[in-house]
Amino acid sequence: MNKDAMCQCEIRQVGRFDGWDDFDEFITVLNGEPSLVPARVAQPDSYVGLVERWYQCSACATMWRLVEPDPPFEGLWQKVDSPQP
Ligand SMILES: [Zn+2]
Repeated sequence: MNKDAMCQCEIRQVGRFDGWDDFDEFITVLNGEPSLVPARVAQPDSYVGLVERWYQCSACATMWRLVEPDPPFEGLWQKVDSPQP
């Protein structure tokens, strides 16, 4: 199975957001991507007080972490290395 050919979850390069406009734009893309399903945050990686959400790709099962910006922290979008079941 070539999961890369089917997968739609790489909607953005991993890394930080370039301000609120960039973040809002990303949320619009995220909400429009049905293969990314909200998941339980099993292992929060963010600092206390930051809003963190996880999404799992229904095609390849990759778990993604979204941490909302809280200036001067610029937020984060990255893969979760080893998600717990
Ligand atoms: Zn995927």
